[in-house]
Amino acid sequence: MISPQTIEQITNRIDIIDVVGEFVKLKKRGANYLGLCPFHNEKTPSFTVSPSKEIYKCFGCGKSGNTITFLMEHEKYSYAEALKWLAQRYNIEIQETEVSDETRIVQQAAESLHALNNFAQKFLTEQLLKTEEGQSNALTYLEERDYVINTIEKFQLGYNPQIKNAFATAAVKQQFSKEILLKSGLVIERSDELIDNYRGRIIFPIHNNTGKIIGFGARVIGKADKAPKYINTPENEVYVKSKILYGAYFARHAIDKSNECLLVEGYTDVISLHQAGIENVVASGGTSLTADQLRIIKKYTNNLTIIYDGDAAGIKAAMRGLDMALEEGLNVKLVLIPDNEDPDSYVKKVGTTAFKKFIEEHKKDFILFQLDVLLKEAGNDISKKNDAVNQIAESLSRINKAEDFTRRQSYIHECAAVLKIDENGLINLVNKYINERLNKQEKTNIDKVESRIEAEEIKENLLLQPDDLQEKNILRVLLEYGLNKWNDEQTVAEYIFDELDQFKFDNPEMENLYEVYKQYYAQGLNPSAKTLLYHEDAKIRSLVVNVAMFPFELSQRWDEKLENIQVNNVDTSLQDVIMSLNYFKLHKIKKMFEQNQHDIEQSKNWNQTLQLIEVHKHLKNIEREITQQLGTVILK
Ligand code: ZN
Repeated sequence: MISPQTIEQITNRIDIIDVVGEFVKLKKRGANYLGLCPFHNEKTPSFTVSPSKEIYKCFGCGKSGNTITFLMEHEKYSYAEALKWLAQRYNIEIQETEVSDETRIVQQAAESLHALNNFAQKFLTEQLLKTEEGQSNALTYLEERDYVINTIEKFQLGYNPQIKNAFATAAVKQQFSKEILLKSGLVIERSDELIDNYRGRIIFPIHNNTGKIIGFGARVIGKADKAPKYINTPENEVYVKSKILYGAYFARHAIDKSNECLLVEGYTDVISLHQAGIENVVASGGTSLTADQLRIIKKYTNNLTIIYDGDAAGIKAAMRGLDMALEEGLNVKLVLIPDNEDPDSYVKKVGTTAFKKFIEEHKKDFILFQLDVLLKEAGNDISKKNDAVNQIAESLSRINKAEDFTRRQSYIHECAAVLKIDENGLINLVNKYINERLNKQEKTNIDKVESRIEAEEIKENLLLQPDDLQEKNILRVLLEYGLNKWNDEQTVAEYIFDELDQFKFDNPEMENLYEVYKQYYAQGLNPSAKTLLYHEDAKIRSLVVNVAMFPFELSQRWDEKLENIQVNNVDTSLQDVIMSLNYFKLHKIKKMFEQNQHDIEQSKNWNQTLQLIEVHKHLKNIEREITQQLGTVILK
């Protein structure tokens, strides 16, 4: 955990125009800045940044947030990664809280590995570009395969010299420890001597989603005799194979904009497609996708197109892993590259336009593609055809999310037609697989899914009901004026706390923000829109943006009233607070009236009815008081 002090230091330094401006070209328009939205394609700018409020909002696609959420959305950073990025930019040293010794050791190893990988990349790139051996052995080889220098530099390719310890010696000289050198896989130990592991190979650095180098792939030049074609970094604190998608760092914006991710197998496929201007492409580096990799893709898009170049057997094996993609709710399409070509060679052969056209015209839906392959393989063999039906039913049963229900129905319809079997029979079979799996799943798993659905429902609730406007308005004045003085004894916040003591928020999100505000206040943390804008809970952040962005949603006339008063340069904040509190209370009292009325109607005993009538009178009195006060405030 990054310490609150560090977070405060960072948020104090944040300049949203400077950070967003790093990624979006912004022009000043009045108090705000305007640019082309980085989250959707547009020709006229509707992406607005407010430096005073430290928020952005796109009036085209609706995306909004603060500097940190911008980095999270645009760069796909986690909350902590975004903070670290900002800390680095503003030269702020990060202090962490509550780190166990174990975590600290892992963190230190990770930092050392990042530093070593960074040094290695620079060293190895220099060997490729600046030394005679690198140029004649590796650079020529790459150039013969049509890689231009810009591409080589962009992907930071390198070359490890032939002699046994060129890199090891340089790294030791830089004070990197033997332990870290061995962990990185760049160096191995042979009879007490440190030796370069990637001698004579071309080096492909592998970046994480923040652009840091986490490992390397090292390829032999030319044909591999006994040696493996590629050697990869062994698993360590930063290189976790199942979580790596090669090229994701370079592809992230293109995937966002095209809303599609192309998946290929090798590093060179990614690099060649990039060079051809097709940038929404990543490589899995293995035959079947892992759940973690799928989750990374899902951060960017729901549309995954897998480009295969293997033979039928390989494709069949790979397809088994794809049921997982269906569970993640991805739309998976497959394309087979023809004539024993791979994406690398094929794009070089036919060029960008023809390549794109080929993918567009030949991508097939995963389920139907699978059906195709299985049926071809089965031929007239009845038992094999039976297996195919079962496998398809199993795949279809994986599409079991509520939102994909219609999708599954239309698949069943289509598959039954292709298989020439009864649709109801297929439905039954699919249901059988669903039930089997549900029975197998442990209760904890189901709980997890349910709590996720619940979380999504809460998010939906953020779309405010008219009822919520009163509550939102209280939060607005609290965030805006809470720290101001109400009178000699109290702040505005304290006054509001007292006044609302008897009342409850109905919207759980609003209630939560109100409670968080109170906690911050109690701890002397000076809560305001600006500090809470950087709260670690995403729901709090988005609600703060929402509250701060639309100050006078409650009523246009409200705005005018306050403006009328403001004509004389009077501070209207106190009136604003009183009005907000009164409208909030009136609204609540109205609800209480309704409830009370209902109770009176339902009441079966006279004593109770009398009591309820007393309540009615009491509410009426409060209502009258408030209306009178509102009247005087407005008339003033
Ligand atoms: Zn937009």
